[in-house]
Amino acid sequence: MVLQYAPMSEWILPTINRQRCTGCGLCVQRCPTHAVEMRHGAPVIVRPAACSYCGLCEEYCPVGAISLAYEIVPAKEVDDD
Ligand code: SF4
Ligand code: SF4
Repeated sequence: MVLQYAPMSEWILPTINRQRCTGCGLCVQRCPTHAVEMRHGAPVIVRPAACSYCGLCEEYCPVGAISLAYEIVPAKEVDDD
């Protein structure tokens, strides 16, 4: 049997607070995979499959309008205690 796993972006994506967003476009400029683009003055995840969940959009947003629900921690950094 071949197991298939859904790409991460099919179940978790950055969320965008349109009320808080100023439309500066920094998240679009910083996105390394071009997953997000400006549409009508606001960012939209136009290529969800391209989102690597890197967190750069969240990091660079000056007003905290785009955020990731989870932090991805490499296994080697997980504390077993
Ligand atoms: S998490 Fe990374 S890949 Fe996904 S939209 Fe933000 S900057 Fe782009
Ligand atoms: S960086 Fe933040 S404020 Fe600027 S367009 Fe993206 S979500 Fe909106």
